[in-house]
Amino acid sequence: MLKLDIQLFAVPFRKVSKTRKRMRRAHNATTAPTVVTCPTCGEKIKPHRVCKKCGSYKKKTVIAKDAE
Ligand SMILES: [Zn+2]
Repeated sequence: MLKLDIQLFAVPFRKVSKTRKRMRRAHNATTAPTVVTCPTCGEKIKPHRVCKKCGSYKKKTVIAKDAE
């Protein structure tokens, strides 16, 4: 196994150029999570997942939930 003797240090912020800082942070943007509407109950859910509210997936009940 290759063992590198590298130590990482905190770098004073004035030693990092604006360009270098911006290049690093170019990948830090977050995106809003994708949500779809449950076809059974209308709840906002993540796609390709069982609805937590009604327990259905693709309009079929896969987890029995108490009727509300
Ligand atoms: Zn639902």
